[in-house]
Amino acid sequence: MRSILWCALLSIALCAVSLAQTSEPAQHKAGFSIDNIDKSVDPCMDFYQYACGNWIKNTQIPPDRPDMDSFGEVEEQNLLVLRDILEKASKGGSERDAIDQKIGDYYGACMDESAVEAKGIAPLKPELDQIAAAKDKQALIDVIARVQLIGPSPLFNFYSSPDFHNADMVIAYIDQGGLTLPDRNYYIKDDAKMVGIRKALSDYITTAFTLSGQSAQQAAESAKTVLDIETALAKASMDRTVRRDPKVRDHKMSREEAIGLAPNFYLARFFKDVDSPTFSDLNVSNPDFFKQVNDVVASQSLDSLKTYVQWHMLAGAAKWLPKPYVEARFKFRQALFGQAEDQPRWKKCVEATDEALGEALGQRYVERTFGAEGKQRMLTMVDALEKALDQDITGLPWMTEETKKQAKIKLEAIRNKIGYPDVWRDYSKLEVKQGDLMGNFLRANEFESRRQIAKISKPLDRKEWEMTPPTVNAYYSGSFNEIVFPAGILQPPFFDKSMDEYVNFGSIGAVIGHELTHGFDDQGRKFDPKGNLRDWWTEQDGKEFEKRASCVANEYSNFVAVDDLKLNGKLTLGENTADNGGARIALMALENMIRESGKTPEKIDGYTPEQRYFLGFARVWCEKRTPEYSRTLVNIDPHSPGRFRTNGVVENMPEFQKAWGCKTGQAMVSPNMCRVW
Ligand SMILES: [Zn+2]
Repeated sequence: MRSILWCALLSIALCAVSLAQTSEPAQHKAGFSIDNIDKSVDPCMDFYQYACGNWIKNTQIPPDRPDMDSFGEVEEQNLLVLRDILEKASKGGSERDAIDQKIGDYYGACMDESAVEAKGIAPLKPELDQIAAAKDKQALIDVIARVQLIGPSPLFNFYSSPDFHNADMVIAYIDQGGLTLPDRNYYIKDDAKMVGIRKALSDYITTAFTLSGQSAQQAAESAKTVLDIETALAKASMDRTVRRDPKVRDHKMSREEAIGLAPNFYLARFFKDVDSPTFSDLNVSNPDFFKQVNDVVASQSLDSLKTYVQWHMLAGAAKWLPKPYVEARFKFRQALFGQAEDQPRWKKCVEATDEALGEALGQRYVERTFGAEGKQRMLTMVDALEKALDQDITGLPWMTEETKKQAKIKLEAIRNKIGYPDVWRDYSKLEVKQGDLMGNFLRANEFESRRQIAKISKPLDRKEWEMTPPTVNAYYSGSFNEIVFPAGILQPPFFDKSMDEYVNFGSIGAVIGHELTHGFDDQGRKFDPKGNLRDWWTEQDGKEFEKRASCVANEYSNFVAVDDLKLNGKLTLGENTADNGGARIALMALENMIRESGKTPEKIDGYTPEQRYFLGFARVWCEKRTPEYSRTLVNIDPHSPGRFRTNGVVENMPEFQKAWGCKTGQAMVSPNMCRVW
């Protein structure tokens, strides 16, 4: 899944819907306004600063967030809408309909902080005891399976996903995993920042084990054990930039062969423990990881492995334990993200309800916020963008007719989903009890894990959504070959019914173009119209693509995100390709619309249609981040910071230079313009 902005940060998720301002009124309207422009800056020297300068000056990062940006502004508004829905739903009894009972009781139990304090560690104790009771390493795999069903994924990841070679069928996958920190580099690199974050993790583990009953000395030893095991897993893990290539993750093998790769994992027992449907083949995304970690399991004592699994159970549930756990968790997250304060409880509980019951809460959300008119205008824009991409492919100077024909077949096959699912998920079998936060949380996790596992060996359900309706984000899926826009993102400044089309094409138009272009970036181009991993390029065209893509990778590798830390041009290549392609085809679509209207466009607020297009584009990327968060994202986020999502794109566009009258030698005119699409 390739989204327009970063979402789930590992298990300590800080997702798109995480956000902000507390009770103070919004500092400014979340929409397009020329008041955001800093006219003291020359747009040809630093367009991002020109378009966002006053926004940046007038925006403060809310204390409970690591950032503020356009996504955050909308998320903030959504949280208030969702809170209102949930507070109403949580009042009342059996006269409520099934949806309100479920979402209301989930939220209500979550908000009952005094019940949480009164129960202490008790709600999690049975799970921790079960891990402690494992008699040998075979019994340990049973408890790992249990932990994987109810929450975190110690040791490795097990999940279902479309078969790389037959996307119509869902198969089982096993993959590297089992880390607490966001990436293998956090365990391996020895610079001061990484050492500091490892120390923060070690402190967090020590505190959590002390709180759950270990002596200070035991807890410190436990922390060392966890870090030792996770460091071994990190060393066996593949680098995330290398993993971008789906071909390196394509290792389908028989069930027996996979079991034989890592006999100490007792995978046959694991598959049975999690009630997996039977299968004869599965994909092992990183076979070397299983080979190497097989030795780790052999060399570590049973007690050490139990400590490691207990840690993952504790960390996965810490958010819903009493205050001292929550504070320890926050301190650790602060080291990674740099926010000043923890989120207020109501925000955590709104997000938790969205995670657990997203398509039930989502029904209520779209009833309130999403109209048929919005959907119709989006469909018209998607259509205009698809035509523009087709036109763009026709005109590509570097691609042969043969590959162009294949590219157009793929484009033609891209489906779209807008607003919310046609078929809502059924949560009737998920038990939600009043006053039982931890129980509800673990049951909701288990409900979702079992739902995912049940898909194995079944045809792909193409109606399914991977984001909930209130999510302020969008995605392209290679296996589904589809672009998806939840209702949450179809609001200002992304999509503004009251704004001219020039601005809308720059904002939501470029977002649509971004997602479409993902079908043809370094990863997307390797999938065919049906979503199968199949090379449909001539060899020569493939080389031409690589040549142009490496221009983009080099360009972004020279951008500095924070201090002296540069972007990883290869990690961000797909997103940068999508940003560049999306901006180009959205502008083409706008020019087509203006031409077809037959009217001479007029300036608005003193700006030409093209200038407003670029201002609308930049507005989406106005952003502020803590230095800690910037640093974390450079390490793990495939997206570039907003400054470069703006300037990195416009400096490649002669259309931009024409619109703003920029000249050779100015910063927004790259001497080495890159263009893939
Ligand atoms: Zn993207």
